[in-house]
Amino acid sequence: MARTLAKSTQDRFRRRLNDEQLRLTEMIRDIDAEREEIRLTETSSDRSPDPNTAEGGSLAFEMEKELSILENTRDILAKVEDALSRIDDGTYGACDVCGDAIPVARLEALPYTKMCVNCASARR
Ligand SMILES: [Zn+2]
Repeated sequence: MARTLAKSTQDRFRRRLNDEQLRLTEMIRDIDAEREEIRLTETSSDRSPDPNTAEGGSLAFEMEKELSILENTRDILAKVEDALSRIDDGTYGACDVCGDAIPVARLEALPYTKMCVNCASARR
């Protein structure tokens, strides 16, 4: 059974994760809006952008870039939400692989991590 974090420490991380959750949700909303705008620009022309023209190429590139940022942001948001649920069920701060306590310094740097440094580097 892993050591549990002090209530005050947990509360501190919960606040940070809540802030992060809010920030990421807003980012996703903004990116979605931007993508919608790009999509509308695209469909307002008669045909879909030709990636061989400079204009079509940069539009496709723009869409691709936004999509990868969006996926990345959604991925982090999922981790943040997962961390919040681990605070709720009392498993936050314990490594998901070996069960050891994750050092608070690591949690400070990566509040949504679920692995200790050893397990995380072993997975690389
Ligand atoms: Zn571990």
